[in-house]
Amino acid sequence: MFAKAPIAKHALVIEYTGELIPHEVAEQRYPIVDGEEEAPHTFVLQLDEDRVIDANVGGNDARFINHSCEPNLEPIVIGDHLWLVALRDVAAGEELGYDYAIELDEKHTPAAKRRFPCACGATSCRGTLLRPKRTPQSAASREARRVIAARVRALLADGL
Ligand SMILES: [Zn+2]
Repeated sequence: MFAKAPIAKHALVIEYTGELIPHEVAEQRYPIVDGEEEAPHTFVLQLDEDRVIDANVGGNDARFINHSCEPNLEPIVIGDHLWLVALRDVAAGEELGYDYAIELDEKHTPAAKRRFPCACGATSCRGTLLRPKRTPQSAASREARRVIAARVRALLADGL
């Protein structure tokens, strides 16, 4: 998916909608089959420790945004909602992407990584959609979270 118009840094670009379900329900819905080629979790995003958003049910265009290892969007939780927020200014025509950072219950072995391959083309591409271990959040990601949290606090203080 590509930006039609320029997007300002820290703009709330699109909400990632879908059915809010517990992890266990998602695991029952989309069991990982040994040897399966297709990654089944592409449309399921984690909201918090207990819940995921299943965009196969009630999902919007956000589910078509590709993974990128050098993302210009960041998923940020606001209440029970997940928004894709611009990490930087995005020019019209740029492809949108965020880091899927998929986390498996099993160890992220080389074999597991190969089941979720990445071909985003970024120079820093890590070759997999799986969440990198022990990689600290980027400065841009921390800043976006800070800005959004401050905005939400200000709205709540205004009595939204
Ligand atoms: Zn990549």
